[in-house]
Amino acid sequence: MKKPLFVYDDSLLKYRFNSTHPFNQMRLKMTTDLLKSSGFLDDSSIIQPRPASDEELMLVHKPDFIEGVKLAGKGSLPPEKMESYGLNTEDTPAFDHMHEKSKMLVGATLSAVDAVMEGRADKALSLAGGLHHGFSGRASGFCIYNDSAVAIEYLRTKYNQRVMYVDTDAHHGDGVQWIFYDTNQVMTYSIHETGRYLFPGTGSVTERGTESGFGFAVNIPIDAFTEDESFIQSFKASLSAAIEKFKPDIIISQNGVDSHYRDPMTHLALTSRSYEEIPRFVAQMADKYTQGKWIAVGGGGYNIWQVPRLWSQIWFSMIGEAPPRGRLPEEFIYQYEDRCPVDFPYDWEDDLNDYKEIPRRHEINEKNQSTLDRAIMHIES
Ligand SMILES: [Zn+2]
Repeated sequence: MKKPLFVYDDSLLKYRFNSTHPFNQMRLKMTTDLLKSSGFLDDSSIIQPRPASDEELMLVHKPDFIEGVKLAGKGSLPPEKMESYGLNTEDTPAFDHMHEKSKMLVGATLSAVDAVMEGRADKALSLAGGLHHGFSGRASGFCIYNDSAVAIEYLRTKYNQRVMYVDTDAHHGDGVQWIFYDTNQVMTYSIHETGRYLFPGTGSVTERGTESGFGFAVNIPIDAFTEDESFIQSFKASLSAAIEKFKPDIIISQNGVDSHYRDPMTHLALTSRSYEEIPRFVAQMADKYTQGKWIAVGGGGYNIWQVPRLWSQIWFSMIGEAPPRGRLPEEFIYQYEDRCPVDFPYDWEDDLNDYKEIPRRHEINEKNQSTLDRAIMHIES
């Protein structure tokens, strides 16, 4: 087994809408620091990201949108254009040099792709990516350029790969889904909180693709307040059915951790246990179907103090390390504890002292089971 690679550089932290915006790439540095201080990551496994070129961005993004983002980053895009490119919202406002900063995130994911496709590693992790709401011609939901969609099209055109996209963020992976909705060369899979009360509102089990892509989009919308057991069951059963049907050459997984019960933006109730299981199952799938080839990216996660422990699990599953137990390294605690205005997590696992009993548990689990049954019936039809 080749050593997995980890893409990181401080330049990736500059993707920042403003100082109070919930999307905060400080999570990348914190995760890198946690992995280093716990002795599981050293500099020989870290590779530097490169920026994506305009040509690479144009694999999925419209040229006029890219030009618009460049101008918006210089403050010279007219207001009506700002609106048409989705850059006038509170969620996804324009910021200085946004083109240059956004293309670094895409380049980071492409650096992970190149590392795997050039045979330097079987598995690579680039936590800066996972901007799954970006559309071909419009920014949306904290996402400007859609790194994963660019990476998928890059894998298709440059390396002739059939790509399985696996999205476990709390929000539907709409941007990636719509970009590949009509092709049978990419399968998009997204398990997420139902769109009933959550952005972007799509991702119903009936969204299955169109034309030759029919059957190549898979959606598992789960109920608000879903807990570990029901989530893990839905995830494993549906993902293994989807992969078995598609038989991909490579997997790219999006690892938003905003389904965690302490996340302020969503209504799911997963604990650290799910985040131990998710990447380990994806690793198993990669070993079984793609000769281990797996690229993982980040995604949502808005209680940023929780994210480093949860994202570390992706790296542990790549290097074949069991989930650590007990207290986080003192060095990490010392470095970050004082800056944390909310409850700081001291252990690898959740302490669950603030976990509230879910009253409708049985009803939620039954609903998820019936969604799962429908999805599997679609996959196998
Ligand atoms: Zn999300």
